[in-house]
This record gives sequence, C-alpha cells and structure tokens, in this order.
Amino acid sequence: MDRSWMLNKNKFSSEYIQGVRSFLDVAKQHVDSSGRIRCPCKNCNNCYLKKVVEVKQDLFLHGFVEDYTQWTHHEFSAERPSSNHETTSSEKEVEKFARLLNDAQCELYPGCKKYSKLSFLIKMIYNKTITNSSNKSFSMNLELFKDALPEGETLPKSYYEVKKLMHDLGIGYITIDACVNDCILYWKEYEHLDTCLNPMCRAPRWKYGLGKCKKIAQKVVRYFPLKPRLQRLFMSKEIAKDMRWHKEKRVNDDVIRHPADAEAWKEFDKENDWFAQDPRNV
Ligand SMILES: [Zn+2]
Ligand SMILES: [Zn+2]
Repeated sequence: MDRSWMLNKNKFSSEYIQGVRSFLDVAKQHVDSSGRIRCPCKNCNNCYLKKVVEVKQDLFLHGFVEDYTQWTHHEFSAERPSSNHETTSSEKEVEKFARLLNDAQCELYPGCKKYSKLSFLIKMIYNKTITNSSNKSFSMNLELFKDALPEGETLPKSYYEVKKLMHDLGIGYITIDACVNDCILYWKEYEHLDTCLNPMCRAPRWKYGLGKCKKIAQKVVRYFPLKPRLQRLFMSKEIAKDMRWHKEKRVNDDVIRHPADAEAWKEFDKENDWFAQDPRNV
C-alpha cells in the first residue's frame, strides 16, 4: 500500500486527509477495552494511549512520527505483506522486540526529558539489588511513584510486569534452586526434588519455619541466558558489524588485541571448523 501521503507536509491536503481516514479505519479495529489506541503523532510517538478522536486531532496538528510506515502498533496481523512474502518467526520476533523497545524508551511521563520508562526502571532495579530489598518493597515503591508522577506516566503496575518486560527485552534472568552445599541444581530431572541427591549431603532444598504457604529455597542460582543477549546485539547494524570485526577486519599478526588473537580461540577454531567459518561466531 502506498503510504507516501504520510510524508505530505500539507496536513490539509485531500491526500493527507484521506490517508488519515484510512489509517484510523485500520487502527479502529485494534482499540483497547477503553476504546483507545496508541497515538502515532510526532508528540506522542506511540507511547500514549488516546481515544480515536484525539488521535485524529493530533495527526492533523502534529503529523505522523517519522518512519512510521509499518504501522506495527496499529495493524498487527490486520494487513500482512501479501502473497510472495511470508513472515518468518524471526521477523515476528524482531517486530515484537522493536515494539517493546520503542515502548520502553518512551518518556517516563509526558514531557519528562530526564528519564525514559526503561532507564527509570533500570535505576530502580539497580537500587533494589544494591540494597537487597524485597520484591514487595519494589512493588510498593512502584505504586508510590505511579501515584506521585504526573498523569500519563508509563510505569508498569507491579514487579512481576517489570520482570516480564526485562525478560522480553532479553535482559532478564532465570532463577534455579541449588543445593546449599553446591552439589546439584534443582533443574530438569531434579526439578521436583526436595532434598539433595548426594548421599553424603542430603541437605534440604527449602528453608523451614518461614511461614507455611510459600517455600523458599536455601540457595538460588541466577542464570543469564546468553542466546537472547547475543541475538539483541546482532539486531543493531552497527553492533553487528563490531561483532564480526574479528573475522572481517582483524589483522592476524602476533599482537594480542582481541580474544580472537589468543591461542585458546585459535585452538577452538581449529577444532570447530564449521563454527569458525561463520563471521558471526563469537
Ligand atoms: Zn498524539
Ligand atoms: Zn548437596
């Protein structure tokens, strides 16, 4: 579909008016339970939810935000590129990530220049880690901030939602219970055990006497999955270029400037030829 009308500077040209109408027709099919959609105007940048009429006003006042010809926030599956092009799951993944990142990078509240939603949440998580405070205290602070910030603030409602956001952005982690004496991980086939398998240890998995309802593990391991992190790095054109540097630009002399210059890397490459061939190997 031709969307060049979106760039039309004259917001009162019939082309633009007709275009906005066609956009709203698509977007209307995806309103939330309060009849609102994300406003793609230059001011709101798809961060704020507004009623369709308000979005219409904004689009005539401010125009569309730049480079928004894909309408990812507004058409979802409504209009996929047809026939000769089928969307692969990785493309969907990229779209989902772009949407999430765009959402996370929006202002903390309308007009806030100092913090984005994401940077604020990361500061909060940092403080939580440093002070070793509980999930409950995090959620309570979140509630307080939500209440204190000006209308239109974009903070999630609970610690659970924050964790989910981080996880979807590929910067989350998985917790795995471990034996208090480090013998085993309660993972895969051991997931449901209550005591350590090691006959010399037999340590219980749970802390006792901390209330009846919730079991708390004596020790947990935090696992930061590598795959999504690497995938995120390759999503940026510039970073992807740096990630291939050791294969494409590196000078192979006797000076060590990069881990790839080291003997261990070279040895690994020798043993895993198929892997070493790919410039994206790290
Ligand atoms: Zn707007
Ligand atoms: Zn053990």
